[in-house]
Amino acid sequence: MLTDSHTHLNAEQFKEDQAEVIQRALDAGVTRMVNVGFNRETIPSSIELAEKYDFIYSTVGWHPVDAIDMMPGDLDWIESLCAHEKVVAIGEIGLDYYWDKSPKDVQQRVFREQIQLARKLGMPIVIHNRDAHQDILQILKEEKAAEVGGIMHCFSGSWETAKQCLDMNFHISFGGPVTFKNAVQPKEVLAKVPLDRLLIETDAPYLTPHPFRGKRNETGYVRLVAETAAEIRGMTLEELAHITTQNAIRLLGLK
Ligand SMILES: [Zn+2]
Ligand SMILES: [Zn+2]
Repeated sequence: MLTDSHTHLNAEQFKEDQAEVIQRALDAGVTRMVNVGFNRETIPSSIELAEKYDFIYSTVGWHPVDAIDMMPGDLDWIESLCAHEKVVAIGEIGLDYYWDKSPKDVQQRVFREQIQLARKLGMPIVIHNRDAHQDILQILKEEKAAEVGGIMHCFSGSWETAKQCLDMNFHISFGGPVTFKNAVQPKEVLAKVPLDRLLIETDAPYLTPHPFRGKRNETGYVRLVAETAAEIRGMTLEELAHITTQNAIRLLGLK
C-alpha cells in the first residue's frame, strides 16, 4: 500500500503509454497517486486525470519557473479549482533560482500570493525549492505558512533547514535522489524526520531512483524510494509504506 505523494503522470513524457505506466504503478503496490498540476497546460490535464481514476488526486498551483506567465485572473482560476473534490493541495509553488526564466521578484510575489490563497482556503501547500533555501524559509515565515503546513517536496536541504520546516508544520518528502550512493545528507535527514511527518514521492518523469538513474522515472519506482527509506529507518517495506500512506491520507484528506 504505497502512496506517491508527487508525480506528473500528465507529462509529455507519458503521452504514449500513460495507461501502462499507471497500471505498472498499481502492480508495484501504489494505491494512491498525487498528481501535480503547475501551469496553464498541466492544471486542466491533471484534474482530468484525477476525474478519470479514483486513486489519483490532483494539486493545482503555479510553478516558480513559470511565474512570469501568470496572468491577472489566474489566481482566481486556481481558487475556483480548489473547490474540486479531487484537488487536495495548492502546489507546486516556491522558488527556483536554478532556471532563470522568471525573475526572482516575480517568483517571490507569485509564491506569496499563493500562500495567502492557501491560508484563505485552509489548503496545504506543496513547496518546490531549488537553490533557494533561505528565501523559502523567510517567505514561509513571513506569510505564516505554518497555519496550513504542507509538503517540502523532494527535500534536499540540511537537517537545520528540515527542522525549521517541521516547526512550520511541514511534512518532508523524499524522492529518487535519496537512493543515490553519494546522497549522504538526504539519508541523514531521512533518518531523523519524525515518522508522522515522512512522505515519499517520485516527481516522475524526473529524478529517477537508483538503479534506473538517467532513464525516465515512473510512479511505480516509488517502491525503490520506499525500500531505501525502510532500510534507513530499520523497518520493513510494509511498515514504511503504511506509515507514509497514512501521513498522506491525514494531510491531504485522501480516501
Ligand atoms: Zn518540483
Ligand atoms: Zn514536481
